[in-house]
Amino acid sequence: MRSSIRNLRSWLIIGLLSLAGCGGSDTPASSAPIKKEGSQAGRRPRIVTTVGMVTDIVREVVGDHCEVIGLLSEGVDPHLYKPTREDVKQLDDAKTDIIFYGGLMLEGRMEESLKKIRQKGKTVVAVSESLDPATLRKPPEFEGHFDPHVWMDVTLWSQCMEFATKSMCEFDPDHAATYVLRADLYKSRLSKLDAYVRTSIASIPEQQRVLVTAHDAFGYFARAYGMEVKSVQGISTESEAGVADVNALVDFLVERKIGAIFVESSVSDKSLRAVIEGAGKRGWKVKVGGELFSDAMGPAGSYEGTYVGMIDHNATTIARALGGQVPEGGFRSTQQGGLRIEPDGAAKDEK
Ligand SMILES: [Zn+2]
Repeated sequence: MRSSIRNLRSWLIIGLLSLAGCGGSDTPASSAPIKKEGSQAGRRPRIVTTVGMVTDIVREVVGDHCEVIGLLSEGVDPHLYKPTREDVKQLDDAKTDIIFYGGLMLEGRMEESLKKIRQKGKTVVAVSESLDPATLRKPPEFEGHFDPHVWMDVTLWSQCMEFATKSMCEFDPDHAATYVLRADLYKSRLSKLDAYVRTSIASIPEQQRVLVTAHDAFGYFARAYGMEVKSVQGISTESEAGVADVNALVDFLVERKIGAIFVESSVSDKSLRAVIEGAGKRGWKVKVGGELFSDAMGPAGSYEGTYVGMIDHNATTIARALGGQVPEGGFRSTQQGGLRIEPDGAAKDEK
């Protein structure tokens, strides 16, 4: 077993260095030039990230080679988040080598600080900047902006993870092989997760494949996995839902006989409560199908506090509440063993 793992490892390093395009020259013009000083003697490169979903994919790629500081914790809404003085200090600190954020205006009130820091010459990377604009959603209600919730489509988020890997390889070429190896194993996990979500959603009776949430975070999810999506609020949580929005949604639920809607961990459920009440008055009982993680992950250290756990939780909760068939323990229960990557890049059996 050990030798086959070694073989796999050699193959991965040789074969995938080129795939991830390490050291490539096609860095988008919007990125500041990457400073190749990541392997300074005496300290690990320091990375600062914004939302948990970005923090998690970066941690998966760099392992213990870098210090990763995530600014936004569980339950925090990135649309409304204003960076604290301490956050700005972290971002601007001379010891901070590289900054990763979601982009596409997700961190609306941080953009100004990030822009200023980029202008000073620090490497500031929006993981979504690698995505082909043709693959991005631009619904009319977003007023000309792209939908920033790209992590909801596992395939798109996997591409963002590869872009972060490429940036890390350029920044710290000495550890490029490790980053690529780690990224590739993570990518294969994400591809299994993608398949699980697809199967779970497809198991919901077709008429019930409607996802109703508080704000419009699930457009990519719906597009990728075949659901209709409705929300009370728009793209950002900045605008409050009006009476007309609530009434329109009540009509829809009653007509389509949709029995479950979903609250989000980082958004107030006030407008959804109004919808449930409104439907009740019309004689149609709607229940809360569960709490979904939209713009923030679960508690640090928990399974739902990882990107994979967050998506697993969402897909499993949605499928179960709408009459789909999912395994008791979700995606996690379908994964046994597998490979785990040590900080030095060595592959070891999980068990
Ligand atoms: Zn959002």
